[in-house]
Amino acid sequence: MTNFVIPAPKVASIPVAGSGQFPVRRIYCIGRNYAAHAVEMGHDPDREPPFFFQKNSSNLDPSGEFPYPPKTSDVHHEVELVVALKSGGTNIPVDRALDHVWGYGIGLDMTRRDLQGEAKKLGRPWEIGKAFERSGPVGPLHPVSETGHPTVGRIELKVNGALRQEGDLNQMIWKVPEMIAYLSEYFELAPGDIIMSGTPAGVGAVVRGDTMEASIEGLGTLTVRVV
Ligand code: MN
Repeated sequence: MTNFVIPAPKVASIPVAGSGQFPVRRIYCIGRNYAAHAVEMGHDPDREPPFFFQKNSSNLDPSGEFPYPPKTSDVHHEVELVVALKSGGTNIPVDRALDHVWGYGIGLDMTRRDLQGEAKKLGRPWEIGKAFERSGPVGPLHPVSETGHPTVGRIELKVNGALRQEGDLNQMIWKVPEMIAYLSEYFELAPGDIIMSGTPAGVGAVVRGDTMEASIEGLGTLTVRVV
């Protein structure tokens, strides 16, 4: 027993399809990883070096409900392939990177776009727009033994049945092994780390009462209600 002076926070985790929980350490999110989304956000889709921001492990939420957050009037959906690491290290070569992947899932990088926009304009960090409570609705993880490493396949998001976002995993500018290798040059990756791999074009706002359905070929559908 460690001699904690206050109750220790609980370890964040997300469910595994079937049974079990995957413990979460850090969440790295890549920005502008699909060319069409980079263009819709007003950027050049050329292959510039990738950039990442982080959410907090406790932001992930498997409940199927997304409470509309405070201090915003423009909350956007971003459907993303979630990559869960079972091991890590530093300076991982691209050709060994997939050895570190435990599995895959569907996640939403919910974003207070108005606050993120202000932060961008002022050259400030993005956490206020990205890393708020329950900002990461997530579905169950599937082990690589069941899914393989998805590199192609439709990724889409519907709101109230209407298609909003669509793309294909093969449109990622930085592929999963490249993201792992790149991150490992700057950070020490470790078991429990999550990578949110970017969103295709079509991001947009939701309001209370909306139902989001996020699908990735081979990984099923994540349904989240905005409450
Ligand atoms: Mn995102």
